[in-house]
Amino acid sequence: MSRKRVIPKTQADVLLKSRRRCCICFGLNRDTSIKQGQIAHLDQDPNNNSENNLAFLCFDHHDQYDSTTCQSKNLTMLEVTRFREELITSINAAFSGLVAFGEATTLGLDSISGHYVRDGEFESADIKIQRLPDGKYHIDGLALWGKIREYGPNIGDLDFIAELKEDYIEYSWGHPGREPYKAVFKFKNGPLSISEENWVGMFGMNVSFEGEYHKVT
Ligand SMILES: [Zn+2]
Repeated sequence: MSRKRVIPKTQADVLLKSRRRCCICFGLNRDTSIKQGQIAHLDQDPNNNSENNLAFLCFDHHDQYDSTTCQSKNLTMLEVTRFREELITSINAAFSGLVAFGEATTLGLDSISGHYVRDGEFESADIKIQRLPDGKYHIDGLALWGKIREYGPNIGDLDFIAELKEDYIEYSWGHPGREPYKAVFKFKNGPLSISEENWVGMFGMNVSFEGEYHKVT
């Protein structure tokens, strides 16, 4: 009866890393909801309190884990250890997203993907933005000038991949013998505002992406 207690710091580390999500629920069903549960000893040795031997499990999975026969225990332990790694990786990814506090409008993980439009009778532009698996953004834009002209509008297009920096994306393109074209896409939790430098000569005549856009999808 000399069971050693898990020291509070280790206990806190286990709970914090799992954010009280059960790694078996996650591993089997991608269930990320918060669970009532307890810290399990994976090798079933209650004195082995090293963090590596501990996992937060919901009550159901804890019971199930404890009732597993010794024979299948080793396999289950490996499984649960992997589930725990997968869970922690996913949690770290989800919790490293930007968070809004109070009035501050910080962008969520992917509040900027979508379709943006700047509409006018004579000129217009639309921009499609898509978040890629590596976290960068693919920007695909088309701007028109002179829409109602008989012989058709002048056209400009943008197609590039870039990183989001806080709440904006920057793009520049070196034009031989000119100052580089630069565009800044600033996101405002819905609307998008684009400012440009050295756009003359970058696209068809008079075509520019500068302006205020609203998000349509
Ligand atoms: Zn569970």
